[in-house]
Amino acid sequence: MRIKVLGTRGEIEESAPRHSRHSGLLLDGRLLFDLGEREFLGEKPERVFITHLHPDHAFFVIKPAPLGVPVFAPETRAGVPEVTVFPGEMSYGGYSILAIPTHHSLKVKSVAYLVEKGGRRLLYTGDMFWINKEYHPLLRRIDLVVTEASFLRRGGMIRRDRATGVAFGHAGVPNLVELFRRFTTDILLIHFGSWFYGDARTSRRTLAALGRQNGVNVRVGYDGYELDFGDLRKASHKS
Ligand SMILES: [Zn+2]
Ligand SMILES: [Zn+2]
Repeated sequence: MRIKVLGTRGEIEESAPRHSRHSGLLLDGRLLFDLGEREFLGEKPERVFITHLHPDHAFFVIKPAPLGVPVFAPETRAGVPEVTVFPGEMSYGGYSILAIPTHHSLKVKSVAYLVEKGGRRLLYTGDMFWINKEYHPLLRRIDLVVTEASFLRRGGMIRRDRATGVAFGHAGVPNLVELFRRFTTDILLIHFGSWFYGDARTSRRTLAALGRQNGVNVRVGYDGYELDFGDLRKASHKS
C-alpha cells in the first residue's frame, strides 16, 4: 500500500504553502479517504470514504450537488445521491475496509477506517477524541495510524452538551499518541490546527520530540506527502 496525503489543514482560517488543503488521503491512487476539497476528485478515485460530514472532510455538505463517484459515509446527505451509508465493513479491490466508531461531534456521526491489504494495516481516524475500549482489540498491529493534530495541548478541546452530558470535540496530540502507541509504531499527523502555523518548523520539531518520548515514530504530514508501506517496519511486535 502507498498513501498520498492530499490535505493537512484543519477547519481553520490559517493556511500555509504546504498546509492549505483540507483533509484527503489517497491510497494507491484508488481509494480516497475524506473529500475536503472538490479538486481531489481530479485524482479519479474509484471509491471515496468519508469519516464524517463536516465540510473540511466533505466539501459537498456546504453546497450539495452530485459528485459522479461512489461515496460512503456514516450518513447520507440530501442533494448528493452518490453518498450511501457505509455498511460497517466492505471488501473491495483486494482491500478489506472496516469502520470503527469514533467520538467527535454531537451533530454528525464519525468513524475511523481500518484498511487491510496484503497483510499491511492502515488506520485513518478523521477527527476524534476517543475510540471505545470495545473496539481496541481490532486495532492491534497497525502499520500506520493517520490521525489529526487540531490541538497540541493535552486534553485538546472537549466540551459537553449541557442537556445530555454527551462530550464532543478533539483530543490533544499527546492523548492521541498515548492512545495509538499501543497499536502501532508509526503515527502520521495531519489536520493541523492554528497552533501549528505560527512557526511550522518548531511545530514539526515539537511533534517529533513527542514521538520520541512515547517510543513511536511521529511523522508530520504536508499536502502532497507520500509514504510507501514497504518503507515502514512490519508492525508485528505491537499487540
Ligand atoms: Zn476536521
Ligand atoms: Zn470534524
